[in-house]
Amino acid sequence: MIEYYKAVTAMDKGKIKRIGVLTSGGDAPGMNAAVRSVVRSASSLGIECLGIRRGYNGLISGDIEKLGPESVSRIINRGGTVLYTARSEEFRTEQGRKKASEVCRLFGIDGLVAIGGDGTFRGLLEFSKYGIATVGVPATIDNDIACTDYTIGFDTAANTAIEAVDRLRDTMQSHERCSVVEVMGRNAGHLALYVGLASGATAVLVPEKPFDFERDVAERIRIARINGKTHFMIIVAEGAGSAMTIGDKIHEELGVDTRVTILGHIQRGGAPSARDRVTATSMGFHAVNILVKGSTNRVVCERAGKTSDIDIAEALSMKKGLDEDEYSVLEAVTGIGE
Ligand code: ATP
Repeated sequence: MIEYYKAVTAMDKGKIKRIGVLTSGGDAPGMNAAVRSVVRSASSLGIECLGIRRGYNGLISGDIEKLGPESVSRIINRGGTVLYTARSEEFRTEQGRKKASEVCRLFGIDGLVAIGGDGTFRGLLEFSKYGIATVGVPATIDNDIACTDYTIGFDTAANTAIEAVDRLRDTMQSHERCSVVEVMGRNAGHLALYVGLASGATAVLVPEKPFDFERDVAERIRIARINGKTHFMIIVAEGAGSAMTIGDKIHEELGVDTRVTILGHIQRGGAPSARDRVTATSMGFHAVNILVKGSTNRVVCERAGKTSDIDIAEALSMKKGLDEDEYSVLEAVTGIGE
């Protein structure tokens, strides 16, 4: 890695002069570590960095600040994003993107690193038509970006959810209740599956596997009960169905006292885990080096444990399914819970 870095430094230094960095879409723990890495990696190559606030909105309005190595001190450990984030309707329009390109010209931004989800990358792809080099860094707690095995924020969010489930289990055990916990993930079940595996859930419901209440919930609770369990944990991905409805049905059909908890935005906050800090740092470094090499329209990804990159259009054409191996493990080990 160091040799590669030296080679890039010697060969390509000077091509890109000023990089803009922004965070966009939903916030994810580790975004700050990625911003820090972009700024520090750029600075080490003599490239200036500008922080763009509030996602693409800031690129349109010129909400921009100079970032140096010192200005990103003490953020590696902080959740959220110091650059703020936003969803920009204006950037979806040709007119909005044209304004943004004029702002880039005014500030001398010749490369843009956008840290966010696939919507952010779609925006980047459209924006690259204005001649600004673009790189996307995947950050979303949902881990739903197909081109990469891992997205920044997933590990922290999973650990936050697992801690909450452990706490709920204590009270459910004491009162011999059933807990139905809804975790985030929109239309993807990666987070729910991971949390379910780590917490030893009685059942896990994910959007990728349409569920049958009798088979996938009621019967699992019965089997757990036959095996001596008196409390139960059902993990529901937000896109799989209504946790409230499932909770009501468990109570009505099985007579088990049930409590429903929707974890919600609590999963987005908190200090990033070591995994998220290290991945974000590595991906930020990689993003800068893509720009330095003169490449554009790339998304940084992690595959088989290695950081690499892929064309944005290709990345956006890919579909991410549930990890079937992980799901098979879940099927084999869940049932009686824990
Ligand atoms: P998360 O996964 O957390 O939702 P995201 O990056 O997918 O993150 P989006 O709201 O989908 O979040 O996208 C972020 C922003 O990217 C949008 O608010 C919009 O400004 C821009 N964007 C998304 N799709 C497009 C598009 N087709 N054209 C131009 N800009 C887009």
